Amino acid sequence: MLKRYEEFLKILDKRLDKYFEEQCEYIKCKPGCSMCCEVGEYPFSQLEMEYLMAGFMKLPYDLKNKIKAEIDKLKRTRPKMHKCPFLIDKKCSVYPHRGIVCRTHGLAWYDEAENRIRLPYCVNKGLNYAKVFNRETGEVFLQEPITERLRIDTILQSEEAKEYGLECGEIRPLMKWF
Ligand code: SF4
Repeated sequence: MLKRYEEFLKILDKRLDKYFEEQCEYIKCKPGCSMCCEVGEYPFSQLEMEYLMAGFMKLPYDLKNKIKAEIDKLKRTRPKMHKCPFLIDKKCSVYPHRGIVCRTHGLAWYDEAENRIRLPYCVNKGLNYAKVFNRETGEVFLQEPITERLRIDTILQSEEAKEYGLECGEIRPLMKWF
């Protein structure tokens, strides 16, 4: 299944790259910025978790130990929102194996079910989409938002995912897998 998931990710990544390009005038993502990995719960499905851990297994011994120490620390304190334990020295240590929430983060998209545009967390830090967001009123002045529903459950239960025979399993916050 992980091989098929990897193929599925190639198609998804292509589509996400296109979105980032189309929305580039609102995007502030740049190397060295790890804000979206510093505060969150990071929902991961069982399938994504297996893929993440396959990436973890390939890491050098020292890096694995640093990540294990981060996980142990979080297991002791169990905060709801936290830095991702795979973020080491401000870099994702498992980048090719990161989850779908990590891949989609940074984009704004129209949520038809709630009739509102969903913005990334970093808009509040003056980053992505800040120039089309009024923090005081909550209004969003984005003319052409992405219309694909960029939620991991929707992506992993899509017709496209079915074509790849994917079964995503349960979705939990990252630390609930440890
Ligand atoms: S897995 Fe990587 S990209 Fe995803 S939240 Fe953690 S550090 Fe960030």
